[in-house]
Amino acid sequence: MTTPLLEVRNLHAGYGPTEVLHGLDFSLEEGHITALLGANGAGKTTTLRAICGMVQASGDVLFDGQRITGKATEDITRLGVAHVPDGRGTFTDLTTEENLRLGAYARRDRSAASLAQDYERMYTLFPILKERRHQQAGTLSGGQQQMLAVARALMLHPRLLLLDEPSFGLAPLVVKDIFEVMRDINATQQVSILLVEQNAAMALKLAGSAHLLETGRIVRSGRSTDLMNDDAVRRAYLGY
Ligand code: ATP
Repeated sequence: MTTPLLEVRNLHAGYGPTEVLHGLDFSLEEGHITALLGANGAGKTTTLRAICGMVQASGDVLFDGQRITGKATEDITRLGVAHVPDGRGTFTDLTTEENLRLGAYARRDRSAASLAQDYERMYTLFPILKERRHQQAGTLSGGQQQMLAVARALMLHPRLLLLDEPSFGLAPLVVKDIFEVMRDINATQQVSILLVEQNAAMALKLAGSAHLLETGRIVRSGRSTDLMNDDAVRRAYLGY
């Protein structure tokens, strides 16, 4: 049996005295896309934050077999875990290209040639970012900022991308574009993805498997095709 890329065991996490996650167990195989679905406040964002060391957590998070619980976020990033937070977290006063450069800060090869090659790779994935390369990120549209946030994370050459609600607040056509790119980077660059989404229909189409989170517990896990045909899931998450 191969070691999963990410393994989460009995994960508890919260803020101060308030526990939000009450013992999560799940894993993600290398090369796969897994979705984490759930209503507002279920704990999806907290799960991503706990994996990358941004909230107090106990239990075990293993990345490629190595325990990363309790490590500093920067060290987890260096191992190849890139986080695209909700709200995107782009530096609005910096240009598109300066944001991309910052995305590369934690990786080994930051030579000019390697950076230039990666800018071009990102501009091929997101052509609009090339047109906007010298524009301040704060002046980009919501969709362009989301693209920039994903591109910045990819500059790290991650093995695992943690994506928090990439569709939030965006028009359906823009969401479709962003999901296409996620499919592309997963297929062509073998980047594994843990995707947090409220748009369950889109997420289940993209991901091979999914976990449903309710008030800090996983209440259902399975292959996306099975979950899409499950009556309870359809009623609660897909609205038909
Ligand atoms: P949403 O889609 O609304 O972001 P979510 O499933 O991602 O929901 P979380 O953001 O993880 O849920 O929030 C889970 C719980 O943790 C909620 O009750 C929320 O109020 C609480 N919470 C989130 N962030 C903090 C914080 N910084 N301090 C205290 N409580 C928090």
